[in-house]
Amino acid sequence: MQGPARRSLAMNRPVVVRVRDDASFAPWREHAQQYGMREALTLPVGDPYHSPRGLVVIFVDVEDYFDRVGMAPFTVFSQLVTVALEQTRLKMSLETLASVDPLTGALNRRAMQEVLLTVHAYARRSNEPFSVLLLDLDRFKMINDNYGHDLGDTLLRDVADVAKRTLRSSDWFCRWGGEEFLIVLPDTDQAGALTVAEQIRQAVADIGVAFHNQRIKTTVSIGVACCPQDGDKPEFLARLADAALYEAKKSGRNCVVSARNARTIYSIAAKLQEAVESGRLHAAYQPIVQLSTGKQVAEEALARMLDEQGQVTVAADFIETAIEMQLTHLIDHAVISQTIHRCTSNLQGGIEPLAHFVNVSAGLLSHPDLTAALFAQAQEACGQCAPDLLASTKPLVLEINEKQVFGDIEAIKMKLLPFVGFGIRLAINGFGGGCSSFRYLANLPISFIKIDGELVRRVRDKRIRSIIKRICDISGDLDLVTIAQFVEDTDTLDILRELGVDWGQGYLFGRPVLPGS
Ligand code: GH3
Ligand code: MG
Ligand code: MG
Repeated sequence: MQGPARRSLAMNRPVVVRVRDDASFAPWREHAQQYGMREALTLPVGDPYHSPRGLVVIFVDVEDYFDRVGMAPFTVFSQLVTVALEQTRLKMSLETLASVDPLTGALNRRAMQEVLLTVHAYARRSNEPFSVLLLDLDRFKMINDNYGHDLGDTLLRDVADVAKRTLRSSDWFCRWGGEEFLIVLPDTDQAGALTVAEQIRQAVADIGVAFHNQRIKTTVSIGVACCPQDGDKPEFLARLADAALYEAKKSGRNCVVSARNARTIYSIAAKLQEAVESGRLHAAYQPIVQLSTGKQVAEEALARMLDEQGQVTVAADFIETAIEMQLTHLIDHAVISQTIHRCTSNLQGGIEPLAHFVNVSAGLLSHPDLTAALFAQAQEACGQCAPDLLASTKPLVLEINEKQVFGDIEAIKMKLLPFVGFGIRLAINGFGGGCSSFRYLANLPISFIKIDGELVRRVRDKRIRSIIKRICDISGDLDLVTIAQFVEDTDTLDILRELGVDWGQGYLFGRPVLPGS
């Protein structure tokens, strides 16, 4: 490690030496001195962890030269060489990946995934933006159906050619799927990407393929997503571009839409998945109090999604999307897992035990791998805490949404029985709203009834009071605890107490709070 070249490579940074003084520069020293060189700078180039990498040595005939002019121009130079080396590495590795789509000559999807990773890694290091365009032919099925598959193929090839001609040599073009193309634009921000997308859209609209005496025309819709504004992970950007593309289709096709403006369930779903994967889905906790004493006895965990800037989105704004896109299991799993941790550390920290209510969706119950993992986590957590303290009843309470169990009580029961057998209790959520049925109470081993919040809000109405009273009576007979949701003022509280409701939850007692905020 004595020579400057070796030091430079080992530390991956430039090293300056005086030719005269540095004996370790032996192999080149003599020649350099012969030509009057005074100083040398060794610059490592290329990714330090991959081949090809190398070293550029710059000799100068002026003493203290690098001190005087500074490193900046040479650093920029080494970055340029690094980019060139990375491009060649990528091209070389793509050649060995059987990476080209035979119809259009574009890269195939697998190769593009490699490209996305490399461009992303470069963008991170250099702090430059990059953009992803997803392009889909409009009503292409109709063209195939009306004019035949061969003409369809020709049109696909022409669209690929036209799009490629619009791009720079450093851009990447790939056949992402049947009639979908993905384009990656390094060093390009949103404005630049929208310009390129618009150029492609127009260029495609101008072409046509001859069919007998007609010219068959086509158009494309394009979704645009940019790093870092829209997201950072490559797969996520492709998903966002897809969401934007969906929006472009919805707005009539033959247009360009940026992920920024795509507010569809698809983009919410993409953001949600990203939040789950990057640990930005958090549980907030809302207190539940005993109405007779005002003392907190429990809390409910509610999902919150944080974006990369820490901005919070409440569950109400993404839960419908999550249900529609079948993502509720991810939310429930994250929230329940965090709640088990919280419960353990509270108990170990000497905080008075609370019941911890968590929501369980039908989606979670249809993922046996996730429910098994949560069950194992709960068992382990209880094993760590003092088991005698908790007797056979555990602090976790699974809340089942009444709407979700509707019609399928037996199947749900089978999935919940292991939890119940372990001492984890069940609550039925929103009782008295939707399609309430006493069959749940008859068939499921329920311990808590959460009274529908809408009923609670209307508790001044005599008829509603009478309904709540009956729910409380039955709960008393069955030994169930009743919990009123949406308790927002003291009048409501007084009425609920009088009716015999046991516990309550709502803004009167506290809003959901993220731990540490
Ligand atoms: P939209 O505007 O919503 O995108 O409508 P579309 O008809 O383009 O979309 P859809 O996904 O319904 O149909 C895509 C069609 O693309 C169906 C499939 O036959 C055709 N396709 C996929 N790959 C090829 C191919 O290699 N050659 C040809 N000729 N057609 C293809
Ligand atoms: Mg299409
Ligand atoms: Mg398509």
